[in-house]
Amino acid sequence: MARLIVRRKGTPEQTVEISSPVVTLGRSRDNTFILRGDRKISRRHAKIDYVDGKFYITDMGSANGTSVNERLIRSRTPLRDGDKINIGDTEIIFFSDGGLSPAAEPEPISPEELAAMRPPSRSRPGAGGTATADASTVKCPKCGAVVDVTDIPKGAKVGCARCKHIFTV
Ligand SMILES: [Zn+2]
Repeated sequence: MARLIVRRKGTPEQTVEISSPVVTLGRSRDNTFILRGDRKISRRHAKIDYVDGKFYITDMGSANGTSVNERLIRSRTPLRDGDKINIGDTEIIFFSDGGLSPAAEPEPISPEELAAMRPPSRSRPGAGGTATADASTVKCPKCGAVVDVTDIPKGAKVGCARCKHIFTV
């Protein structure tokens, strides 16, 4: 899902997810993303909106302007993955991955997609219920759930049953 990495000297890096078709950035409390502690940022500084699968940024008439990749924008400007936005002394990196997140919940994976990702595991009749070796499970890098990777070759993709995160074994 689309997100912004917000960086400013002397403050910890912050990641915010874009989960609404219009988000505003600025110092005042009625913004979607409130950027405090940077006096060069206007109360209502910039707006990012999402139309037909694309994100755009617009300067809201800020005092110090909005730059995308070091260029001051004069009108509504399309945003591309990895673009660097500068407002005041704050740098914001835009990542579009997957577009707008419908909500905090990840997209569910259909059983067909899961089956395609994972070859059917061989049944082992008479195995006697021996615990699976550690080597055939991995932890989901996102939520930490144990994912069975028995019969899945290294480098293949698997889906986490709990959080639906897809990752490489
Ligand atoms: Zn997970």
